[in-house]
Amino acid sequence: MAEDLYEKGNDGNCMRRMMFGLDTLVELDDGRMVPAINLDNAATTPPFKGVMKEIEDHLRYYGSIGRGKGQKSEYSTEVYIRVRDIIKDFVGANSDIYTVFYAGNTTDGMNKLASALIENPSDMVLTTRMEHHANDLPWRKRAKTVFAEVDDKGRLIVDDVERLLKLHKGKIKYVTITAASNVTGYVNDVHYIAKIAHRHGAKIIVDGAQIVAHREFSMLGKTPEENIDFFVFSAHKMYAPFGSGAVVGLTCELNKHIPKFYGGGMVETVCDDSISYVMAPDLYEAGSPNYPGIVGMAKAAEILRDIGFEYVRKHEQLLTRRMLDGLKEFPEVILYGDSENIYDRIGLTVFNLYGMRPAEVASALAGYRAIAVRHAAFCAHPYVRRLTGVKEQGDSSCITPEGMVRVSFGIYNDEADVDAFLAAIKELLYGKHVWKYIKRKVNSVILENMPYDRG
Ligand code: PMP
Repeated sequence: MAEDLYEKGNDGNCMRRMMFGLDTLVELDDGRMVPAINLDNAATTPPFKGVMKEIEDHLRYYGSIGRGKGQKSEYSTEVYIRVRDIIKDFVGANSDIYTVFYAGNTTDGMNKLASALIENPSDMVLTTRMEHHANDLPWRKRAKTVFAEVDDKGRLIVDDVERLLKLHKGKIKYVTITAASNVTGYVNDVHYIAKIAHRHGAKIIVDGAQIVAHREFSMLGKTPEENIDFFVFSAHKMYAPFGSGAVVGLTCELNKHIPKFYGGGMVETVCDDSISYVMAPDLYEAGSPNYPGIVGMAKAAEILRDIGFEYVRKHEQLLTRRMLDGLKEFPEVILYGDSENIYDRIGLTVFNLYGMRPAEVASALAGYRAIAVRHAAFCAHPYVRRLTGVKEQGDSSCITPEGMVRVSFGIYNDEADVDAFLAAIKELLYGKHVWKYIKRKVNSVILENMPYDRG
């Protein structure tokens, strides 16, 4: 289906019709009401209409999950259990060795996983300098953490992963890495890294927050050594923004540990002075679950599979190329990451306008043209500091970088969105009207630390 759409001219409109809420009007600074152009899909995505309908349909039969004998309760429980298989299928975990536990989002899933896997502060974890804080801080706060570096374009130095594994001689228990960066969009070859990690006796955890809506993902590699051990993601980044996510992981490993998150549903028996626990996945799901979120996540996974990731990849490569080529026309634009070879990037672009703060650019785009983008350091301060060349000022007064502006595509964005964005940037740079507005409102300063490198 999606291949046909792509061949027919890639106008994006078929996809737009599948989305809920795109026509909602928002108010510009001059009071006009217009539909927003959303170029902030790496932060969160609007829902599929199909997801909204699925949730509504299922709520007609909603009852308590795993806790009652009423018909609705039994029906909902059955759906709740069945969704685990849909999620396994979505991430290619077609093997009995894996189980799925539900989480609120990637941050929640990663923290639950870390709370279980790390049993001693001296346990060693290897992560990277390109991670979102959600895949950095949960490990930093619980374990001895070492970081593989990135190169000057922001790509992970894979050799550094191997170097650190060798250096620590089998002491690193987990390698945890993002499948795709939320800052540069680089896709890491996590199956290759799995092979290296396994060779050195470590298990691999993958942050799937940015990959799930952009590339087909499989827990299974070409050989068992390439298999991923744990995978964590959020549904709100894949068109089901209802507070759900999931962790897919090795059942036997999950059963060796107990998450530090307690309550009903995870226990077999509670005595006055002792507790016995159930097995994974229930062990990781204390408390009443987010049923609408789980139903929505499953439907979004099915719709994405139906659209096909080859379509998604081609579509966003086309938009990213057009965006980068357009931005390069302006000498004032500073681009980050590799803007020539974009084959290993999902559909996003980060940049600055020389002499303007990222916050100014983002608020002017919203106020003047209803274009939504994200600015600042994207919960990845160490990575953004490296990309922008902003140094830390000593250990204790580490500064937050002002960051960048990020444009990120969803499947419903089209070339018209890119062109509207580029026209707005042109206005921002050369239109006197907008300049006046920015100067008045935020008191623009030159970003002195920023290297003027258009690479
Ligand atoms: N990892 C990456 C790569 C992300 O982009 C994000 C969200 N920006 C997260 C983790 C955290 O996801 P959530 O906010 O849904 O927990």
